[in-house]
Amino acid sequence: MYCGYCGRLDHRCACSEANSAAASFLSRGGRAFQPRWQASPYKRAVPPQVKRRERAILKRNYRSWYADVAGKSGARCANCGADEDLVLDHVLPIAKGGRSTLDNLQLLCAACNRIKGKLAIDCRSFRHPE
Ligand SMILES: [Zn+2]
Ligand SMILES: [Zn+2]
Repeated sequence: MYCGYCGRLDHRCACSEANSAAASFLSRGGRAFQPRWQASPYKRAVPPQVKRRERAILKRNYRSWYADVAGKSGARCANCGADEDLVLDHVLPIAKGGRSTLDNLQLLCAACNRIKGKLAIDCRSFRHPE
């Protein structure tokens, strides 16, 4: 079976290994966004021109999308609740076929964003105490 977060075969995946950064990230309750790499529209890797295009779209809309996401879910990291160093993160990463659209974005702090890397994790569903 395939890991729901990274899309690798279970035995090659380290997502839920005890004490790993990804495991502590996942323990907060983020759910797999798109369960399988196989669901991606691309057979192998996302073509570089698609990556460039999606990054450019994000860059162009960054300020207004940031304001939109922060207005809807609060200016906090969707994973840990931190309110500093926030960045827009692709729930389904571009590298896994994700697009730069408002409904594929969440706010993460820089630290959580680094841990999440290319995993497909939706943290938007939980609430943090103010
Ligand atoms: Zn995994
Ligand atoms: Zn965080």
